[in-house]
Formats: sequence, C-alpha cells, structure tokens
Amino acid sequence: GDSIKTFLVTGGAGFIGSAVIRYLIQHTAHRVVNVDKLTYAGNLDSLVSVSFSDRYSFEKADIADAKAIKDIFSRYQPDIVLHLAAESHVDRSIDSPGEFMQTNIIGTYVLLEQARAYWQAMEPSRSAGFRFHHVSTDEVYGDLPHPDDDAGNGETLPASPDSPSPTLQTRFTESTPYQPSSPYSASKAGSDHLVRAWHRTFGLPVLVTNCSNNYGPCQFPEKLIPLMILNALAGRPLPVYGKGNQIRDWLYVEDHARALILVATTGKIGETYNIGGNEEKRNIDVVETICRVLDELCPINDGAQRESQCDIRRYADLIRHVPDRPGHDMRYAIDAGKIQNELGWWPEETFESGIRKTVCWYLENRKWWQRVLNGHYPGHPAG
Ligand code: NAD
Repeated sequence: GDSIKTFLVTGGAGFIGSAVIRYLIQHTAHRVVNVDKLTYAGNLDSLVSVSFSDRYSFEKADIADAKAIKDIFSRYQPDIVLHLAAESHVDRSIDSPGEFMQTNIIGTYVLLEQARAYWQAMEPSRSAGFRFHHVSTDEVYGDLPHPDDDAGNGETLPASPDSPSPTLQTRFTESTPYQPSSPYSASKAGSDHLVRAWHRTFGLPVLVTNCSNNYGPCQFPEKLIPLMILNALAGRPLPVYGKGNQIRDWLYVEDHARALILVATTGKIGETYNIGGNEEKRNIDVVETICRVLDELCPINDGAQRESQCDIRRYADLIRHVPDRPGHDMRYAIDAGKIQNELGWWPEETFESGIRKTVCWYLENRKWWQRVLNGHYPGHPAG
C-alpha cells in the first residue's frame, strides 16, 4: 500500500543497493536501514547524498552473523527486507569461491532464519504486511544458444532427432530451469532455492527477482563497463575476453532500483519476476559504444588528463583481445514480460541513453573512483 514502511536493505553500500537507497530516500517517504559488512565492494561514498536524512541509518554487520542480525531486526522493526548483500564478481568466484559460499548461501540462510523468527513473533496486524525480497541474477539460468552457433536464422538452434531440444528458447522466463555455470551463479542459485523453500515450508512471505547485467553510477571498476571507461581515460588497454562475442542483456541500475521497490511493495507473495532491459549487446559492441561516447565527450586530443600518450587517435584503438575465461556463458537474454504486464514496470533508459549517463557520471565523479582505485574509502583498512 501507500503507507510508510521501514526497509531493511542488505548490501546497501554496493552498486545496486546504493541506487535502491538513494531512490528510496529521494523519491519516497519510506525509512531505510542499510546493513552492510563493507567488503571491498561496499562504499559509503555512494550514499553521501542521503546519509544526513533522518530516515536513513547504517549498521555495519555481516548477514551471516545471527546475533547481529537478530539485534538489528529487533531494534528497527522492518516491514520489508530487500536482500542484496552478496559476493558478486564472477572472476573472483573462479579464483576463490569460499567467500561466495559463505555470504551468498550461508549468509542468506542466516538472514532467512532471523527474518522468520522476527516475522513469527510480530503482531498479526503487522506480520500480514511483512515481505522478504531476495535479489538475484539471470545467471542462475545458465546460457542460451548463441546466434553465431546457429546454422539457420540467428535466433534458435535447430532441433535435431537425438537432442529433441527441450531447452529451445530465445529468452529466459521465470520457469526456465536452473543451470548455473560459475561458482558465483551456483551460489546465487542455491540462495534462490533456500528462499523459495522458506516460503514453501514455513510460509515466509517471499519474493524473488532475477535481473540481467546492470550498469550505471557507482559501479566498482572491476566490472566490464566502468573498467573500460576508466582504462580508456587512463590510456590503458581495453581487455576484451575472446572475440567479445558474448551477449549480455543490459539494464541501467536506476531502472533496476525502481523495479525492486515496485516488486517489494506490490509484487505477489511467492512469485518470481524476471527483470531485464531488452537490450542485448555483444561485449565488443558495448566497448565500442563506450569508446564512441568518450570520443565525443572527452576527445583524446584535448585530453590533458591522459597519462600515457601512445599514438592513438580514438579510444577504440586501445581495444585488446585476451584469452576467454573458463566456462564463460555465451548469451543471456531476459523475458521481462511478466513484470511489465502484471506490475507495469518498464525501463526508462535505452542502452544508448544509459551509457551516455554512465560515462558522464564517471567523468563528473573522478573523486569517487580515484578513492576507490587508491583503496581509500570509508570502512576499509586502507581508508
Ligand atoms: P556489489 O558487489 O556492488 O555489492 C555487494 C554489497 O554487499 C557490498 O556493499 C558488500 O559490502 C555487501 N556484502 C558482501 N558480503 C556481505 C555480508 N556477508 N554481509 C553484509 N554485507 C555484505 O553487488 P551488486 O552488483 O550491487 O549486486 C547486488 C545484488 O544484486 C547481488 O545479490 C547480486 O547477485 C545481484 N545482481 C547483480 C547484478 C549486476 O549486474 N551487478 C545483476 C543481477 C543481480
């Protein structure tokens, strides 16, 4: 309904969580408590614009710490849990999967148990409105046939007699079977299953969303889009895995934040909603688009900020192809029809408009990313 709620947001110092909190404080009357452990990916600088609001509070805590989480539930009495805290970087999950199992699976389990105990002890008048919304990824579905592997029309693989192709599909829907590829996506798949089991077994009022790749302001520069923008500005090579043919469906982070708040407040309990931007792009096209926007907004020749002057004229001259990573999913694409039809959500940004906003943000917020690159930000040992 329209009443004022208290949101408990986990992972609110991260990329998407900070966008959700900025939206909640700037565009709604709701209250927010941000529960974040401040790992390398958590950055309170992303929340300076809301940190003085009396509707915003921050609690530094690990979601796997049952005692701390119990105490936070009892002090803040939240109506809605919006669970985003996770280890989120696929390459890191391949190098060292342990933290992914601990936070994404054990952490989600601990949070579910604390939410359940709190919900069961709530007064009936309030417990009826309680909701636990788990934020997940489309990577749980595995990958889709790539148009380049296709003998035919560029959309689907032809069915053959020995593989009657139950997986023949062009996009992920809410009923696509789970088939995660990386330790990251497997840990997220595990957490999704736990959340649904807590609904089925204990009746906990849950919602799950699975979203495609996000980009936008305040994204840690290990991810594709900010990495490319910052490397380009520094005149460093732009590394592209393999041929760069991998296809991802991109969504501007503020569109995701709006979708999450809509589902958390109006979605149907027990349901899953896929969220996507309907903007499938090859990685190489993403990098070339960034280069084109940078050529326009920050041309190399007047770039006093460029550190290493090699003889390049356009940012695209910095593109270098590097060996692909193991198990790399070739194509993701989301069918967001359900959230569009049932809840009336639609992305406001196209890929072109969103990339432009993103490049502008990184050009205008050099302090934010210089502090990140130097390891100087609040809550960090080097900070
Ligand atoms: P992020 O890595 O930027 O932020 C994660 C946040 O969680 C950080 O602030 C970190 O400090 C915090 N955190 C990590 N472990 C914690 C713990 N044990 N206890 C408390 N806090 C902890 O991630 P993001 O890109 O903002 O993603 C947020 C969520 O959305 C994740 O669950 C991710 O799986 C999901 N998701 C991300 C994308 C994407 O493209 N980035 C797409 C779909 C879904």
